[in-house]
Amino acid sequence: MTRPNAKSQNRQQIQQQQNQSYRHIRDFCKDHPEEEVQYFCFDCQTAPICPECVIHGAHHGHQVKLLKKAYPVIVKDMEELAIQVNTKIDDLAL
Ligand SMILES: [Zn+2]
Ligand SMILES: [Zn+2]
Repeated sequence: MTRPNAKSQNRQQIQQQQNQSYRHIRDFCKDHPEEEVQYFCFDCQTAPICPECVIHGAHHGHQVKLLKKAYPVIVKDMEELAIQVNTKIDDLAL
């Protein structure tokens, strides 16, 4: 992995790329920092996980779905969660 050190030259380009990909969920695994997360575990309902976690990691044998396929389900869950939280906040405000 020898790349020419052109960090300052590339900085603007990288920032543009970051802005462009701002809407995408692109994250790396906590347990495998070089692996990009691609799956969501429905058993654990935690942060998205990488293929390593699914194949021989902490989530082996769990019910997982590809993020892009699970995403609509997660969003629905999040909305329900948000509604629950809002309800709780309302309860507290009363
Ligand atoms: Zn992992
Ligand atoms: Zn799991």
